[in-house]
Amino acid sequence: MTGIDDLPVRDELRGKSPYGAPQLDVPVRLNTNENPYPLPDALVDRITERVRDAARTLNRYPDREAVELRTELARYLTGTAGHQVGVANLWAANGSNEVIQQLLQTFGGPGRTAIGFEPSYSMHALIARGTGTGWISGPRHEDFTIDVAAAERCIAENRPDVVFITSPNNPTGTAVDRETVLALYEAAQAAGPSMVVVDEAYGEFSHSPSLLPLIEGRPRLVLSRTMSKAFGAAGLRLGYLAADPAVVDAVQLVRLPYHLSSVTQATALAALEHTDTLLRYVEQLKAERDRVVGELRSIGYDVTESDANFIQFGRFQDASAAWRAILDRGVLIRDNGVPGWLRVSVGTPAENDAFLEAARALHKEITA
Ligand code: PMP
Repeated sequence: MTGIDDLPVRDELRGKSPYGAPQLDVPVRLNTNENPYPLPDALVDRITERVRDAARTLNRYPDREAVELRTELARYLTGTAGHQVGVANLWAANGSNEVIQQLLQTFGGPGRTAIGFEPSYSMHALIARGTGTGWISGPRHEDFTIDVAAAERCIAENRPDVVFITSPNNPTGTAVDRETVLALYEAAQAAGPSMVVVDEAYGEFSHSPSLLPLIEGRPRLVLSRTMSKAFGAAGLRLGYLAADPAVVDAVQLVRLPYHLSSVTQATALAALEHTDTLLRYVEQLKAERDRVVGELRSIGYDVTESDANFIQFGRFQDASAAWRAILDRGVLIRDNGVPGWLRVSVGTPAENDAFLEAARALHKEITA
């Protein structure tokens, strides 16, 4: 049988594995930081209406510039993220993964490098690889916060073309403060100048305000966001960036023509009409998150501060055995390969209770 190795794939892809959070059929799935609440019926109806309208013109290509959608995304950010932006500051793609890919195609690529402070979102390194961009793994403190002095040194030594800052960070959960972002931006400008991408996929869940205002006067700072989490629309595949209009112009050089289907644009616009309802779910999830953090601590676990819709907890001598033990109790969580730690997404109160029960039983077993 022909295998990948029999094909002339690029050398840097040989022997590598694709991104693969297990999609297992178990009663409680808390492993991919999805929003546990299905979209409300009124929104489903609105999507149906908008998609029906879009279907009438599916013989035509979609609006290549996605102007209406970008206008509404700008309105959403202006209303919720503490800084006024307009359509020229916004760009959208199929999930923030595609936004990140377009950024690396534009500012990374062969002969160039990107840096991320690990552990962090594993797709940054994978998309770097896919775009031929060299990857540098930057340091963090023991408590998973960014070691600013070490990060500045790392940037000065390696002079990366792209710097990723994930806030709140995945899988650890904690938001990055403004001062850290500013210090790393300065370091990146002194060394580069390079682009700094703030991945705020979980921004709406944070205890701290969005880092969006930092784009003002910093043309090489890009904020990346998604509708997959706060909007409960992971299946939609809609991510976006906010930055100086020059960045939006630059990514046009690599985007595929008509990359955002009319159906996607129609669905995202319908979801944005229901922002207020969807953000109420975010508030419920934040309260549940704080409850689960408290309960995990009272069981006796170490828990990293969470500004996201997931929680990193430990410490385990054998995290993969602990992951398996929780799965055996019908709850799928995530082993991100951070030694000693596991990550659980925040679900509905009933799902969280099922997880907490499994976590309590496991703790008893481990400490017996
Ligand atoms: N950034 C971070 C930090 C994430 O955790 C994720 C999804 N898990 C993404 C980006 C990508 O999300 P999407 O492509 O669904 O927008």
